[in-house]
Amino acid sequence: MTMQNLIDEAERDLLHTYNRYPVVLDRGEGVYLYDTDGKKYLDFMAGIAVFALGYGNERYNGALKAQIDKLLHTSNYFYNEPAIHAAAKLKEASGMDRVFFTNSGAEAVEGAVKAAMKYAYTVTGSADHEIIAFNHSFHGRTYGALAVTGNAHYREPFGAMPLNAKFADINDIESVKSCVTEKTCAVILEVVQGEGGLIPATEEFLRELRALCDEKGILLIFDEVQCGMGRTGFMFAWQRFGIKPDIMASAKALGCGVPVGAFLMTEKVAESSLKPGDHGTTYGGNPFATAAVNAVLDIYKDEDIPGHVREITPYFEETLNSLAADFDCIKGVRGCGLMQGLIFDRPVAPVISEAMKRGLIMINAGAEILRFVPPLVIEKEHIDEMAAILREAIAAAF
Ligand SMILES: *Cc1c(COP(=O)(O)O)cnc(C)c1O
Repeated sequence: MTMQNLIDEAERDLLHTYNRYPVVLDRGEGVYLYDTDGKKYLDFMAGIAVFALGYGNERYNGALKAQIDKLLHTSNYFYNEPAIHAAAKLKEASGMDRVFFTNSGAEAVEGAVKAAMKYAYTVTGSADHEIIAFNHSFHGRTYGALAVTGNAHYREPFGAMPLNAKFADINDIESVKSCVTEKTCAVILEVVQGEGGLIPATEEFLRELRALCDEKGILLIFDEVQCGMGRTGFMFAWQRFGIKPDIMASAKALGCGVPVGAFLMTEKVAESSLKPGDHGTTYGGNPFATAAVNAVLDIYKDEDIPGHVREITPYFEETLNSLAADFDCIKGVRGCGLMQGLIFDRPVAPVISEAMKRGLIMINAGAEILRFVPPLVIEKEHIDEMAAILREAIAAAF
């Protein structure tokens, strides 16, 4: 079938919830992808910050193949070895105490929020609580995650939200303070906002937030689904400043392509939070998904993936700054590590489509920001290749 035939069939059968690029991807190799017509693309999107290790990593693929032949699924009525090892490694990487594996980022956020609500219920005896979230945040599409997502457009058509959320402004501690009431049980934020426009929380703001939460007995939840797993040069973005949450959510690069997420908490929270019967999942933490987590965490450790990100970031930032300097339509550069945005003065869709024609895959974050979330294993030559294509694409687009 030709690529166009495949696309026509997809548009007939799949629910139309995405405006997809007119490309059917077929296979990947390192930091390159190929479509079903054999065209090659440099990938600066990584399946939305997922494929941190690139495509075809032998150690990762080998671990998954071995697990397929052994055991794929057990249910959570039983223990399984990959989940046990993955939990221990994730604890070590995060410094958190308890792990619950989920199937996605939204589910990790759901679990994190439920854990905070249950903690507050145990402590106060009341289920009437509020959560503070942030404008422009993104936490996922399920109801609980949607309820704390700071984009009214995503929430509006879907009726009453299952929990009471108030929205503050990132990096504005006064706006958070003005949302606090005696019912506030948690604050949830992305340490670097992803979908909302690559906005890093400042160290000062995170310190003030941690202090505010400690003073008021409010739990601090970090959504590390996009900014975690080495993307900012630290295993988790909060580790850059050492400001630790009470609960955190992870996913995306956690499985590097296998759908898996996790929420983690401190022992203090765990003691008064979710108990048998409060939360569960059929697939979550199954041996296949957690074999992926084990492989990912082993490779991150042995190859010091966060270290590579710290090493390559200055060159990446230099390259983006020089692009910004050379094009009047680019207003600035924003982000952290290998999670960056070029801020344009107009919609970036034409740039993305011109880049695609020239063999570079990019995404946006909002209409006017070009987002860079490449595989974490990129080298300088890939950054140069990206910049060369992007220069042509911007010139062609505008
Ligand atoms: C992608 C994302 C989610 C949702 O993850 P899914 O796996 O798509 O459900 C949640 N939070 C953040 C910060 C994300 O970037």
